[in-house]
Amino acid sequence: MNFEFQEEHQLLRKTVRQFVDQEIIPNIAKWEEQGAFDKNVWKRLADLGLMGVCVPEKYGGSGMDYNSLAIVCEELERGDTAFRTAVSVHTGLNSMTLMQWGTEQQKQRYLTPQAKGEKIGAFGLTEPGAGSDVAAMSTVAVRDGDDYVLNGQKTWISLCDIADHFIVFAYTDKSKKHHGISAFIVERTMTGFSSKAIKGKYGIKSGNTGELFFDQMRVPKENLLGEEGEGFKIAMSSLDNGRFTVAAGAVGLSLACLEASVKYCHERETFGKEIGQHQLVQQMIAKMEAGLQMSRLLVYRVGELKNKGVRNTRETSLAKWQACDFANKAADDAVQIHGAYGYSDEYPVARYLRNSKAPVIYEGTREIHTIMQAEYVLGYREDKVLSQMLPKWPFEE
Ligand SMILES: Cc1cc2nc3c(=O)[nH]c(=O)nc-3n(C[C@H](O)[C@H](O)[C@H](O)COP(=O)(O)OP(=O)(O)OC[C@H]3O[C@@H](n4cnc5c(N)ncnc54)[C@H](O)[C@@H]3O)c2cc1C
Repeated sequence: MNFEFQEEHQLLRKTVRQFVDQEIIPNIAKWEEQGAFDKNVWKRLADLGLMGVCVPEKYGGSGMDYNSLAIVCEELERGDTAFRTAVSVHTGLNSMTLMQWGTEQQKQRYLTPQAKGEKIGAFGLTEPGAGSDVAAMSTVAVRDGDDYVLNGQKTWISLCDIADHFIVFAYTDKSKKHHGISAFIVERTMTGFSSKAIKGKYGIKSGNTGELFFDQMRVPKENLLGEEGEGFKIAMSSLDNGRFTVAAGAVGLSLACLEASVKYCHERETFGKEIGQHQLVQQMIAKMEAGLQMSRLLVYRVGELKNKGVRNTRETSLAKWQACDFANKAADDAVQIHGAYGYSDEYPVARYLRNSKAPVIYEGTREIHTIMQAEYVLGYREDKVLSQMLPKWPFEE
């Protein structure tokens, strides 16, 4: 496996880092206070070609490899989690799912404008009564002529008020349990669709998260993604991609925690020396560095597997679990290193701590990934090759 990045990777990292330093970090406190997701930033990110990073050029993307997407997520979350979350749902959970499972017609209609950044995609799986236990969902889709009629509700959906297109999941045959779930591409403008943001979130305050409602919503049969009954399989494959982006973002958050802490270690003195000279503070710094480097390796290994078109559910789960846990711990230690000042908005570390929590919950909680890893090792779980895999990189044109 080769983790030597090419010149185009370095250039991509530099471009995103510059954008984050100039456009996101100076404004993030204001956006957090307003509780608003700034769509202008999205447009500018799209202008840089960052909305279709690992999407083939023939579908409007930039055709870069899967680790390029990791670099984008890493650098975005070094600035703020909200924008990385947006890329995770737009590209990781939506566009890559269309790449993997969409018909040519669906790719032309939905993937291409998304990759160009003209439209925004999101992903609705979670419901009030169904989070980790996906099959507990209540949303139903009933075939009626050339349409499906969807009724139900989704919750905790990122970009709920902002996205143009959603991939959503509903039962077409509840008696078949997991095998009775189907996936649909839904447009915001469809009659019977509405959304509502959740207020009072603990973190990711500049992000938009909330509920989707489907009330007798008619979805044309052409918008069924995959076959009827393939929804659960599709959802899990989407998570292989979403989790990769979440893990990559966590690397960026760990880096942000380390950078802020190192700076403060040199600024703050106690007992006649920089706090960085105290061994217990050094221990926190050393653990942050170890977590950061281990997370990076786990994430880039997954990127390489994706480049080769190899199924990577096990490796992605491990990378997501560990990178998010490391980032959460790094953020906690970063606040600790900053003492009382870390407990205020004067420094960014309190925001890092708040933002580090959601990724430990979404796209598989810490507990779900712990169970998955144990089951793989014990031989209780095994992945089969899917009927549709992501295209290998380099993409064929
Ligand atoms: C900011 C944010 C953004 C989100 N964005 C999206 C989105 O865009 N789209 C989307 O579909 N969803 C989204 N989610 C929802 C997220 O994916 C779910 O919250 C997550 O899957 C967990 O489900 P839950 O909250 O219902 O928790 P539950 O599943 O109810 O779990 C509650 C607790 O029980 C534990 N638990 C559950 N089952 C087991 C078990 N078998 N063994 C051990 N412990 C268990 C869990 O680990 C957790 O600690 C988002 C969530 C947040 C916070």
